[in-house]
Amino acid sequence: MQSSIPPGHDHFDWRLDGAFYFPYSAYLRNRFGGRVQRVSINAGFTCPNADGTLAKGGCNFCNNPSFSPSRRTRRYEIREQIDRGIEALKRRYTNIKGFIAYFQPATNTYADVDHLRALYEESLSHPEVVGLAIGTRPDCVGEDVLDLISELAQQRYVSVEYGMQTIHAESLDWMNRAHYHDSMIDAVERSRGRGFEISGHVILGIPRESHADMMETAVEVARLNLDAVKIHNLYAVKNTRLGDEVAAGEVELMPRDEYVQTVVDFIERLPETMIIERVSGEAPPAYLIAPEWCLQKSSLRHAIEQEFKQRGTRQGSRYVASP
Ligand code: SF4
Repeated sequence: MQSSIPPGHDHFDWRLDGAFYFPYSAYLRNRFGGRVQRVSINAGFTCPNADGTLAKGGCNFCNNPSFSPSRRTRRYEIREQIDRGIEALKRRYTNIKGFIAYFQPATNTYADVDHLRALYEESLSHPEVVGLAIGTRPDCVGEDVLDLISELAQQRYVSVEYGMQTIHAESLDWMNRAHYHDSMIDAVERSRGRGFEISGHVILGIPRESHADMMETAVEVARLNLDAVKIHNLYAVKNTRLGDEVAAGEVELMPRDEYVQTVVDFIERLPETMIIERVSGEAPPAYLIAPEWCLQKSSLRHAIEQEFKQRGTRQGSRYVASP
């Protein structure tokens, strides 16, 4: 199956850095010639899974009551958010080569295509923005939206991140996703070859999913040959149904050691060419209920690397190409 990543990607050997998997930071450094950071933008979208179009209440882990269903974000607000985000990132890091405007909260393709064009083009017109990342649901990308994204991708780097989470219907029901894995297959097929990066968001540690279930999801991510994958542990934040259940002791989240083993098992099954955007969840500390260990990102990343080292494996060690 052909990758949709632009030329250059396939010739970059991340293993030369001594890495155990292909990190997004290395991909961006290679592509843009220096450090590139994402700037998160809240464009005022809501979600068909929260506003009653598909379902009400949204996913059990998502703080969707905070979405703004009726507010239309204006172009100047996008510019202001980018400016503020860039300022904060520059205080934290030096030598940043450019920024990716990341349409992150809610479903960022859930509007008419003219409105989407105005927002995306406004973000790309910022002089320090080198690309665009769009988080969305796999069942929320019509052909007109894909045409627009494809058009923008002819000029600039664009990544579309689909919320896949798992292939298992029972788990998708448990999360109240209001879609099944066939939507993801359909979105990937319709996105392929359009010049933008196809990324999938996956959650490990969903209650009642066995290790074998999670490895089936890994094998499917490999089969779909996504350009990139973002792997999260399931975590619970305030103002969500999952948060209430975890706080009440009704749901248990995966312990750290088990997560380290599982995420290494998962990455071993992915092809070497797939970018790993994240290896754990990034919960806002002020909102996190559990697990606390996901706040210690660098020690978690170190533990994951140590596990690879001890096993003598890396990304792709257990990858089996689809027939
Ligand atoms: S996680 Fe995504 S699909 Fe689910 S309610 Fe939130 S925005 Fe909607």
